[in-house]
Amino acid sequence: MASLPPAVTSSYRGRLAPSPTGYLHVGHARTFWTAWQRAREAGGTLVMRMEDLDPDRSRSEYAEAALDDLKWLGIRWQEGSDKGGPYAPYVQSKRRGLYLTAWRRLLRRGFLYPCKCTRRDLESALGAPHERASAVQSGSLSGGKLDLDDEPIYPGTCRLWPGYMPQLPGPTSSEIETPGDTNWRFRVRDGTVVEFEDRNLGKQRFVAGVDFGDFVVWRRDGVPSYQLACVADDAAMGITEVVRGADLLKSTARQILLNRALGYDNPSWYHCRLVVDHNGRRLAKRHDALSLRALRQRGLTPMNILSAELPVEA
Ligand code: GLU
Repeated sequence: MASLPPAVTSSYRGRLAPSPTGYLHVGHARTFWTAWQRAREAGGTLVMRMEDLDPDRSRSEYAEAALDDLKWLGIRWQEGSDKGGPYAPYVQSKRRGLYLTAWRRLLRRGFLYPCKCTRRDLESALGAPHERASAVQSGSLSGGKLDLDDEPIYPGTCRLWPGYMPQLPGPTSSEIETPGDTNWRFRVRDGTVVEFEDRNLGKQRFVAGVDFGDFVVWRRDGVPSYQLACVADDAAMGITEVVRGADLLKSTARQILLNRALGYDNPSWYHCRLVVDHNGRRLAKRHDALSLRALRQRGLTPMNILSAELPVEA
């Protein structure tokens, strides 16, 4: 297994972007291994970025464990939270200024509105019990957390905001400097079709208002959303290809809209099929037995983990 980062001979820039909210599992191992292989094959640079924005769920011990597990697998990177580099810091909790600049730019350009809806409002607006059940199961409503890809479709209650409607009384977007203690949503035009060519999964197509709705870019507790931080960082760090799990395909659609609104170029996209358990369910951090930690403790080698025949989602 390779132990040194290879020489950089091309302008390819990829990244590993773990969230330190639990131990990495075999699914992460597969995806991160693919990201490293693609960067190596391209003679490019791989960046390690720690996505620790959520203060309630991120823990430094998970961040350390992620670096340790990935190194144990044989994955190497040239820039990152543990090594520094030209785009430091590589830890999202230290890059707030960048996200605030992006938020302000979106606001000035008329893409955002403040949303006062509470979780309870959203739950009742979601209506149909099966929708609510699936949203809760996916974690998008439970505990007040919004999942990366499963944010429920927003019913549009707060869309009529005077900030970008000069005929209505109220503050204008040019007078607002900080997000304050309200959620801010990115307004998507219903029916907008977002299409992209995925380098692994082929043509992808999502429809705004059907597959996703107006999404949160800044949370009322002062935390920028994953979507906003991710595009701001990928642009600032010059990422040319994003390799990640297929659970983030709908996030890619949202990020394409954000890139367009912010005037950033899109990177190329490569989404990896997800490893599933014996019941066909996606692996989550709750599958402790499949965490790299647990498998290491049971004596498995990186080769065992990377070469095992594991079921993947269709
Ligand atoms: N930090 C995200 C996660 O662990 C992935 C972000 C990305 O690759 O864009 O799920």
